[in-house]
Amino acid sequence: MYERILIPTDGSKTAELAVEEALDVAEKFDAEVHTLYVVDTDAAEVSLGTEQVERIRQGRFGEMDELEARARKATEHVAELARDRGVVVEEHFRGGRPHKVIADFAEDEEIDLIVMGSHGRSGISRVLLGSVTERVLRSTHRSVLVVDEREAES
Ligand code: ATP
Ligand code: MN
Repeated sequence: MYERILIPTDGSKTAELAVEEALDVAEKFDAEVHTLYVVDTDAAEVSLGTEQVERIRQGRFGEMDELEARARKATEHVAELARDRGVVVEEHFRGGRPHKVIADFAEDEEIDLIVMGSHGRSGISRVLLGSVTERVLRSTHRSVLVVDEREAES
């Protein structure tokens, strides 16, 4: 039923909860996992400047030390957990508007299930859903499994 699962991650705790659930599904269906970190270029533009942001947009992360390290740490963690369970996994990095990049990736890569957290790094839990997840839900016809961070507390 599910063959290609996308796990977008921003390296947050809630995204990690989603990883566990995604890997349960992946194991069950013998699915392949793709994990994706998106550098939010609109947010980064202020601190990085136009030139560097343009570089990220083109997928050239090489000189973006801090951002690249954060991205790699997030996806590597997912990849390690996947490999521990014998799940086939690929890591991806992109720059752009996170929800748009996630939805486009799901189309391009023929993803049949997106698994993501209800919240992320900025984690304002008084709102039901973070804005990236809300916008992904509005931008894709693909199936989306949203893992709520409150599940972790029970
Ligand atoms: P907001 O960003 O609206 O202030 P938030 O940070 O709490 O709120 P979201 O950003 O919507 O919530 O994060 C929800 C989920 O979306 C995360 O658990 C993660 O799965 C995914 N996500 C968020 N940002 C990114 C990103 N830059 N790259 C990949 N996945 C992301
Ligand atoms: Mn966020």
